[in-house]
Amino acid sequence: MPDTVAETRTTCPYCGVGCGLKVARDETAGSVTVQGDADHPANFGRACSKGSALGETLGLDGRLLYPTVDGVRVDWDTALDRVASVFSDTIAQYGPDSVAFYVSGQLLTEDYYVANKLMKGFIGSGNIDTNSRLCMASAVAGHKRAFGTDTVPGIYEDLELADLVVLVGSNLAWCHPVLFQRLAAAKAERPELTVVVVDPRRTMTARSADLHLALNPGSDVALFNGLLLHLQDTGRIDAEFVTDHTNGLEAALAAARKLSLADVAEITGLSQPELRRFYDLFARTERVVTGFSQGVNQSSAGSDKVNAILNCHLLTGRIGKEGTGPFSITGQPNAMGGREVGGLANQLACHMELGDAEHRRIVQTFWNSPRIADKPGLKAVDLFRAVKSGQVKAIWIAGTNPADSLPEADEVQAALRACPFVVVSDVMQSTDTARHAHVLLPAAAWGEKDGTVTNSERRISRQRGFMPWPGEVRADWWIFAEVAKRMGWVGDFSYDAPVDAFREYAELSGVENHGARDFDISAFAAITDEAYEALEPVQWPCPAGAAPRGTRRFFADGQFYTPDRRARFIATAFRAPVEQVSDDLPFILNTGRVRDQWHTMTRTALSPRLMGHIAEPFIELHPDDAAGCGIAPAALVEVKNARGSIVVRALVTSDQKRGNVFVPLHWTDQIASNARVDVLVNPATDPVSGQPELKYSAVAVQPF
Ligand code: SF4
Repeated sequence: MPDTVAETRTTCPYCGVGCGLKVARDETAGSVTVQGDADHPANFGRACSKGSALGETLGLDGRLLYPTVDGVRVDWDTALDRVASVFSDTIAQYGPDSVAFYVSGQLLTEDYYVANKLMKGFIGSGNIDTNSRLCMASAVAGHKRAFGTDTVPGIYEDLELADLVVLVGSNLAWCHPVLFQRLAAAKAERPELTVVVVDPRRTMTARSADLHLALNPGSDVALFNGLLLHLQDTGRIDAEFVTDHTNGLEAALAAARKLSLADVAEITGLSQPELRRFYDLFARTERVVTGFSQGVNQSSAGSDKVNAILNCHLLTGRIGKEGTGPFSITGQPNAMGGREVGGLANQLACHMELGDAEHRRIVQTFWNSPRIADKPGLKAVDLFRAVKSGQVKAIWIAGTNPADSLPEADEVQAALRACPFVVVSDVMQSTDTARHAHVLLPAAAWGEKDGTVTNSERRISRQRGFMPWPGEVRADWWIFAEVAKRMGWVGDFSYDAPVDAFREYAELSGVENHGARDFDISAFAAITDEAYEALEPVQWPCPAGAAPRGTRRFFADGQFYTPDRRARFIATAFRAPVEQVSDDLPFILNTGRVRDQWHTMTRTALSPRLMGHIAEPFIELHPDDAAGCGIAPAALVEVKNARGSIVVRALVTSDQKRGNVFVPLHWTDQIASNARVDVLVNPATDPVSGQPELKYSAVAVQPF
């Protein structure tokens, strides 16, 4: 390698697979090349199209490089003073719950920790939520109900070791490509590895499956309740595991018995032979992994869907062992890391809960903080409604674009227009959210900033900077800490580097823990700067005294984190999605990702290669539906309901079920006019998790 080329090992900023990357930056040529890191245990050298194209996205076009107040460039002191004084004055006048932060699964764990410490421990409100509410909240709620903690039991290797992999609501091939590649490689080596895909759409993942169950959207609880009964009634259960390590089976079975197999067939739209084939396959295969993602989580019944899946694994004792287990496949690069340090409005740092007085005491004592929020804060959808109603008068949005990505997105824009004080810290100058900001704060981007992220298998990896910092960008943790100091908490936020925050929450994770909480990385409480810099990927937990190599699987001993250490079956009853189709709104709108774009395209749109995959927003609809509506292939289509209207290109395909349409979530007003699908999305949320129903809204379609 020439002397002018510097190589850095870092982690991909996109999906929750969390691939390790090797970046070679040639200072003379000004080029950056990115490839998979062969030594990283998430991907072993693989990288997908998005990860490989990262080098094309590092230019400064559109970057936010300087702080502004009311549209005028200012220095950092002026901007930070303004944020601190408005937040302090608002709190003084209206109380701590009159302010809020809305943060992001794109932040590093250290950023997340400092922001949560400021809001929950010093401002004294729970009003900090994250776009992970749109992504993983139902999985979190399901895990906590069943296990007592938000624990992902298994590891990626389990998908390779299984004899049956069931993917529910997951287009793994496009949304988590490297994990799909690992699964495909395992299947090529062991063709007897059977893959079942449960998804209303015939996605790229479904095409590759041995069995595709194109169920009706929203009917997953009925499907898995039927499976629970089949397992019970055919005796394919682990009776000893159930007796020794679980509670609540009878109630779960009673809930499931409310539907006959014929009812399940009716609700799911699957034939009884199809159901029996799946149920028999699941029953007779010992090594089963059920991977689930947004098709499960993004639902008004998301938590019940998760628990209906977990129930089947508990009944068969298929958890905590090689090649078995339920597996939540995380959407964002650091949805898991954010949860570790209290990213959601109901959480405290280190998997403690705002609703638990003992946890509040532990955290407040550790922080030596003047107050601590005494109740969970507002969840994402409710938070922006509170902005609209005037209950929240100052909001700080960091690293996310809710004006495009939240349901009922036009209402979110209206809320931001009406809000007296909006702060946006971001890497881009003019997102649909940033245009509403009174104060804009330039954040360091991937390739510049340093810290850690945690992937779907609990693996903490370093993101390392390798680019010079342009303009006056700063790290998110630094921005939050500087505002905290200006609000009067100087000594409590005196971090010099991200490692200071990492050491602090590593220490907190072990305080009064004694094995009571799953997230324990206290082995790193005294990590040196050098060791943090060189940190190899590690799976938590890593408690003090243990060799800090991490832990592969949870629950191998049948011990859970409930008070009696038993897992809980949850009685789940099928509920239909909140919004129903009608003569006026006859189609079910589903939303999701495409292979080569990420969220609202602020980075991926910079790559010509990635834009070449799918150049414009589209709607997938069935040929019969297209013909019935007079829509020709490739014609422009208006998609509308009472919340709004968009115009997108028709992609006519029998991959869609009749009566169902799909529109990708990515396009914004910055990229294509009038194509923001979230203006149409129903803001109904799951009553337990608060996760919105992003995959089921009623719409009409017509030629444009
Ligand atoms: Fe990045 Fe996900 Fe692709 Fe891996 S699979 S390179 S983490 S986008």
